[in-house]
Amino acid sequence: MRLANHDGRAVILTDDTTGFDVATASEGRFGPGIQGIYDDWDAFTAWAAGASGDSVSIEEAKLGPLTPRPFQSFGVGLNYADHVAESGMGTPDALPPVFPKFQSSIAGPYETVELVPGGKTDWEAELVIVVGRKAHKIAEGTGWDYVAGLTVGQDLSERVTQLQPPSPQFGLGKSFPGYSPQGPWLVTPDELPNRDDLVITGELDGEVVQSGHTGQMIFDVPSIIEKLSQIVVLQPGDVIYSGTPSGVGFTREPEWLIQPGQTLTTTIEGIGTIRQTFV
Ligand code: ZN
Repeated sequence: MRLANHDGRAVILTDDTTGFDVATASEGRFGPGIQGIYDDWDAFTAWAAGASGDSVSIEEAKLGPLTPRPFQSFGVGLNYADHVAESGMGTPDALPPVFPKFQSSIAGPYETVELVPGGKTDWEAELVIVVGRKAHKIAEGTGWDYVAGLTVGQDLSERVTQLQPPSPQFGLGKSFPGYSPQGPWLVTPDELPNRDDLVITGELDGEVVQSGHTGQMIFDVPSIIEKLSQIVVLQPGDVIYSGTPSGVGFTREPEWLIQPGQTLTTTIEGIGTIRQTFV
């Protein structure tokens, strides 16, 4: 199943350009907004398997984030070996480095993002995980059972704030308005030929700046869920940005950062493409 947040309402896609409204088709049992659907995800997917409804045309400009109001929103750092190497940091071992991507930074897939004046804004193409079941101290190897679906995201990062002394500010540096775009829709794992290994690509003004695949993750999707759940209680509708492959801008010589007027495009195999323009 592919699920969109279209004009503030949950819509199940029937193809790339059409779908049907969840609240209308379910006579109010689910929706109209997308966030509440995750609270009753198992019942929703059981209903959705046999559901249909009047056709709604999908308009790109009306697509919003898949988790507009998550209970919790996380980012995972240093989760691809080649990105660890370019960052010059150590490789995580027992626990992935985790920081908050505060809720007010979450944006839809095709929005204009205002660059932080005087800052250094960088790209980080990422697979985004949406939680579908409460998870606390879950068993190793069971993480996929707690995933509602996957989407495409950018962990946009303002490096001056992020790395300022005396203590790095990963949460704040990555949480300016619009700095956590996601979309264009949620794809349930069963739709993907290989949910554990998806090609992920980032392009700046049409030039490929990042190219990797999610099979390279140090902590894979089920492992991220399992590790986080040992400490926090994950709730349905929580969102996790799962880390970026190599090719970010701030480690290049010379530094390469997003400029006003540029367009950033991020694509994940089997899911879709998001696009930000910057002012
Ligand atoms: Zn990141």
